[in-house]
Amino acid sequence: MAYLRVYKPWQMLRRPYRVVGVQPERASTWSLTLEPMGHGGMRFQPGQFAWLTAWRSPFAAHEHPFSLSSSSEQTDKVGFAIKELGDFTATIGELQPGQRVYIDGPYGAFSPDRYADVEHLVLVAGGVGIAPMMSILRTMVDRGDERPVTLLYGSRDWDSIAFRDELAELEGALKLKVVHVLERPPEDWQGEVGFVTDQVLARHLPQGAVRYDVFLCGPLGMLNAVEAALEKLQVPQKRIHLERFDL
Ligand SMILES: Cc1cc2nc3c(=O)[nH]c(=O)nc-3n(C[C@H](O)[C@H](O)[C@H](O)COP(=O)(O)OP(=O)(O)OC[C@H]3O[C@@H](n4cnc5c(N)ncnc54)[C@H](O)[C@@H]3O)c2cc1C
Repeated sequence: MAYLRVYKPWQMLRRPYRVVGVQPERASTWSLTLEPMGHGGMRFQPGQFAWLTAWRSPFAAHEHPFSLSSSSEQTDKVGFAIKELGDFTATIGELQPGQRVYIDGPYGAFSPDRYADVEHLVLVAGGVGIAPMMSILRTMVDRGDERPVTLLYGSRDWDSIAFRDELAELEGALKLKVVHVLERPPEDWQGEVGFVTDQVLARHLPQGAVRYDVFLCGPLGMLNAVEAALEKLQVPQKRIHLERFDL
């Protein structure tokens, strides 16, 4: 208790961050960019998360977990992609440039950095589950990582795809194939429709003897359904990595 309630908040207080950007994205999501104030920032692996405290002192113990969405190669700033869902997340858009906030992290084991032998990354995201995937992709650009990546990204419709334009640009910068899966597609839509099912996965998973791992993040229902679909396709459990946005 002493560590959690006294030592850790005191450490966070000594390493504050300044808000430098609050940008609206599609799907009620905000890109929040912070820069360290008077310290060297935080080293993290792409895909990990941190606890964010805003509006209060770290001693108030009112923190919320969010995946880091920025490149882990850039330590002069950190970014989050935060979807408005409840009391705290509804206030993100009100944060002002210059405002002091605190982060505690990094935490979590959801990162391709832990599986160096992966030849092809398969990322499966639903909704704001795209946040850790943005970190993975942005980091790959900064590292000049030339491994192929397939991103299957489930969204309600074409206008609710957060980071849609940046993902199109990343397809040019990386060996990345983005497969949008839309619940309610536009009339002239030629792509995948509905949810990320075993049939959708079978059409897009790497073929042949290539070693691939699947990184999966999205709403709970989607995680369970995609995990079951991967099992049906006989993807070994140890090749499937999940991040649950639910403690
Ligand atoms: C490891 C981890 C990583 C995460 N990463 C991210 C991330 O990168 N981006 C992100 O956006 N989120 C992420 N989350 C989820 C995020 O932490 C929560 O969405 C956030 O803490 C919710 O706080 P809140 O006060 O806004 O919501 P709360 O007010 O606590 O609401 C919690 C839940 O109640 C529901 N709820 C709230 N108000 C209403 C209402 N009026 N009507 C109906 N339902 C309601 C919401 O749907 C929500 O699911 C992550 C969670 C974990 C555990």
